[in-house]
Amino acid sequence: MFEGEVRVRFAPSPTGPFHIGGARSALFNWLLARKTHGKLILRVEDTDLERSTKESEENIKEALRWLGLDWDEGVDVGGPYGPYRQTERLTTYEQYTKQLLESGQAYYCYCTDEELEAERQSLLAKGEMPRYMGKCRHLTEQQKKELTEQGHKPTVRFRVPQNKQIMVNDLVRGEVAFDSNGIGDFVIVKSDGIPTYNYAVVIDDALMKISHVIRAEEHLSNTPRQILVYEALGFAVPQFGHISLILGKDRTKMSKRHGATSVDQYRQLGYLPEALVNFLSLLGWSPSGEQEIFSLEELMAEFSAERLAKNPAVFDIDKLNWINAHYIRQISPDRLLELALPHLQQAGYIENEISTEQRNWLIKVLISVQEHISYAAQVVEHVAVYFNDDIVFENQEAKEVLTDPAVMPVLDTFKNKLVELEVVDAQGIQGLLKSIIKELKVNGKKVYMPIRVAITGNTHGPELTNIIPLVGKERVLGRLASTLAKI
Ligand code: GLU
Repeated sequence: MFEGEVRVRFAPSPTGPFHIGGARSALFNWLLARKTHGKLILRVEDTDLERSTKESEENIKEALRWLGLDWDEGVDVGGPYGPYRQTERLTTYEQYTKQLLESGQAYYCYCTDEELEAERQSLLAKGEMPRYMGKCRHLTEQQKKELTEQGHKPTVRFRVPQNKQIMVNDLVRGEVAFDSNGIGDFVIVKSDGIPTYNYAVVIDDALMKISHVIRAEEHLSNTPRQILVYEALGFAVPQFGHISLILGKDRTKMSKRHGATSVDQYRQLGYLPEALVNFLSLLGWSPSGEQEIFSLEELMAEFSAERLAKNPAVFDIDKLNWINAHYIRQISPDRLLELALPHLQQAGYIENEISTEQRNWLIKVLISVQEHISYAAQVVEHVAVYFNDDIVFENQEAKEVLTDPAVMPVLDTFKNKLVELEVVDAQGIQGLLKSIIKELKVNGKKVYMPIRVAITGNTHGPELTNIIPLVGKERVLGRLASTLAKI
C-alpha cells in the first residue's frame, strides 16, 4: 500500500478525560501500523503546562491498553527517537529555534497581550480575519535590546512567506489549498520558552521519522502552518490524513451534551473494549462488505486507509449498544460476573466480598439476563427481581393483571404445588406450570403472567423457570403471600 516503512504516531495532549475521538485516532493509527507491519509511536504532547497532568497521561495509556492497542515506541516503552514526552525535548526544539532565528525565518515578538487584542479587534471591525500583522518583523537590534531591558519577554514567531499557496495532499481529503496570506506570523515559542503545538509537532514528527500523520479533521487547518515549518527546517513532509469529525445524532460536533464522551465513561458503564473498538472503527471508515462485527484481528486484515471517509461520522449510541449487546452475549460467565460486580455492589445488592456459594448463584442470575442487557450497568434493573422481596407493581398494567378474579385459582394452585415440590429446579418448575395449565384448562399466558406479576411486580423479565429456582421456594412463597395480602 505504501512505500518504505510505515511509522505512525498517536500524540495525545494529556489535558483531561480521554475522548472517544482520541481513541478512534489511536485505533486507526494502530490498524495502519499493524496492517503494514510498521510502527506505532506514542508521544505525549504536554506543552500546555497548566492543563497537562500525569494522571491524564496514565489514564490515556491505561485506556489504550484496555482497548488492546499497544505501541512499539514511545513513553514507557522507549525507542531510538526518544524522549517521547515533549517537555523532555525542550533542548531539541531550542536548537531548531536558534537555526530559524539566525536564518531570519523566525523573529522575536515583543507585543503585549493588550496590543495583540487591539489588533485583533481592529481587524474584526474591518471584517478581516484576525491574524498577526507583523509589527515586530523588522525590529532593529537596538529596539530589541531596549524592549528586553524594559523587561519584555519575547515570543518567537514564524515568518510566514507572503503570497504562497500551500497544498496539503491529504490521504482522505485529496488536495486542499491554503493561502499563506490568511495565516499571520504565528508563535512557535511562547515567552516562557515552551514551544507551541504547531511547532513541536513538526520537529517531533520529522525526527521520529513519521511517515503518515493520521489525525482528526480539526487539525487540517493547522496543517499549512506545519508544512511551512517543515519546509523552513528542510524536513520531508509526511503523508497527512485527516479523519472525519465525529458528530452527535443531531449532526453537531460530539460533545458532553450528547452523553458519555470519554473512554472511561463507557468502560465504567460496562461496555466491552472489543465492542468499543469495533464501533469506533466504523466511525469514519467503512469495510468493503456488509459485515459490521469485527474483532481487532479481523479489522487488521480488513482495514485500508483508502476506505477512510470524508463525510462526518455520526455517533449512534443505539448502534454501539447493539454491537456491545452482541459481544456481551458471547462472554464467559466469569467475565460477565466480573463486569457486573461493581454495578451490583454499587446498587447495594451485594457486599464487596462474596462467598463461593453467592458467586455461583450470581453467575446463574446473570446468565438469565445476559441476553437482555446492552451494557453491564443495565444488569441492576434486570436482576432486581432476584433481590427485591418487597413486591412493588411496576405500573398500573401489572396491577390490573391481578384484579381479574380468574387469577386467584391460578395463584392458589401455584402456591399449593410449590409447597409440595421437592426439587425446585427449572425442570421442576416447568412441570409445575404445565400441570396448572392442564388442571385449570387455561392457556399458558393466563398462568405465567399472574404468577410473574405476583412474585416480581413486573410483566416482563427473566423466565419463571430461572426466577423461581434462583429466588428459592421460601422467598417465592413469602412474596406470594405478601402480594395476595395487598390485593
Ligand atoms: N496533541 C494533539 C492533540 O491531542 C495532537 C494532534 C496531532 O496528532 O498532530 O490534538
